[in-house]
Amino acid sequence: MKEKIAKKFQEQFGCEGDFFASAGRINLIGEHTDYNGGYVFPGAIDKGIIAEIKPNGTDKVRAFSVDINEYVEFGLNEEDAPSQSWARYIFGVCRETIKRGFVVKGFDTVFAGDVPLGAGLSSSAALESTFAYAVNYLFNEEKIDRFELAKIGQSTEHNYCGVKCGIMDQFASCFGKKGALIRLNCKTLEYKYFPFDPKGYKLVLIDSCVKHELASSAYNKRRASCENAAAAIRKNHPEVDFLSDAKRVWLDEVRAEIPEEDFLRAEYVIGEVQRVLDVCDALERGDYETVGEMMYQTHFGLSRLYEVSCEELDFLNKLARKCEVTGSRVMGGGFGGCTINLVKDELYDSFVKTAIEQFTAKFGHAPKVYDVVISDGARKL
Ligand code: ADP
Ligand code: MG
Repeated sequence: MKEKIAKKFQEQFGCEGDFFASAGRINLIGEHTDYNGGYVFPGAIDKGIIAEIKPNGTDKVRAFSVDINEYVEFGLNEEDAPSQSWARYIFGVCRETIKRGFVVKGFDTVFAGDVPLGAGLSSSAALESTFAYAVNYLFNEEKIDRFELAKIGQSTEHNYCGVKCGIMDQFASCFGKKGALIRLNCKTLEYKYFPFDPKGYKLVLIDSCVKHELASSAYNKRRASCENAAAAIRKNHPEVDFLSDAKRVWLDEVRAEIPEEDFLRAEYVIGEVQRVLDVCDALERGDYETVGEMMYQTHFGLSRLYEVSCEELDFLNKLARKCEVTGSRVMGGGFGGCTINLVKDELYDSFVKTAIEQFTAKFGHAPKVYDVVISDGARKL
């Protein structure tokens, strides 16, 4: 990828720049916990964006996307926003950096990536954090801390791309480290690295390639249920800011006061917060079998209690069990997208083959398969 970029940069601009990179991400466990003030547990992956960049002494950015095969030029003032969606990510990063009182000047860039777009691996965060990191390095002597770089990416999504996302994706792609997952407390923003080096296992995503319509309306309903349960618990336990602060027995106390549906949603969330902690303990012991079992429990919760799974994802999850895969669960918001699977090396080939064959036979289209290795996030190459 780097050679291709360098060749194009030379062709387009007749010189050489510095190389920067960042990564997409997975979330091992901790789903629908972010807006409940709980933990998420992401890591950066070995698929990302690489950009060659050189300041050009003007007040314009000249950018070429190798994958889209398109060249765009834009200025750095608010009214200069480009219309091409890929360029808006770069423009947004520049604008959000400037808005925070830092410096961005004109630059030339050629970039390419290998994060599948829209598959739930956050190619957009990889793009944002590559440029946020680069602009910090090239124009600001690295004065902007990594958290602020992540927030620059998040604000880019909010203000220039119309996506009201949380902080996890940009956080993971800015803080990611090879061989480590990062537990982020979404209430306090405290984080801690845990070793993730599953020797003898692989992480593989099976992409159902479906996205059901329900996703956004259901998301709002789930949030409302969680807030309702938290409010009921708060009457007895004022220290509960978010549902994730509640103990399981506190939820039982209010069972009769809230709709059963809200109870089930809350039961999932409170269980999930504990599962993240259990997985962290297991990783410190190198106990990947327990990690896998927790992943299955999360899938069960998302499917039966939180009800954000779908036929395709439940099918893939069941198939994983049948193939004796160590852990498997739907990753992301639900109603489509990928399952994330922790599978022993010796079972990998037969699992992937079976998943492709049986899924295709049942649903009439093939799933996509992505191997991932936990790797470094934003950096200069
Ligand atoms: P994801 O879940 O992968 O983040 P998004 O829809 O949020 O999906 O972001 C995908 C968008 O990010 C693309 O439509 C494109 O505008 C931009 N993008 C991501 N990767 C690339 C790339 N390699 N080249 C150009 N644009 C990219
Ligand atoms: Mg995205």
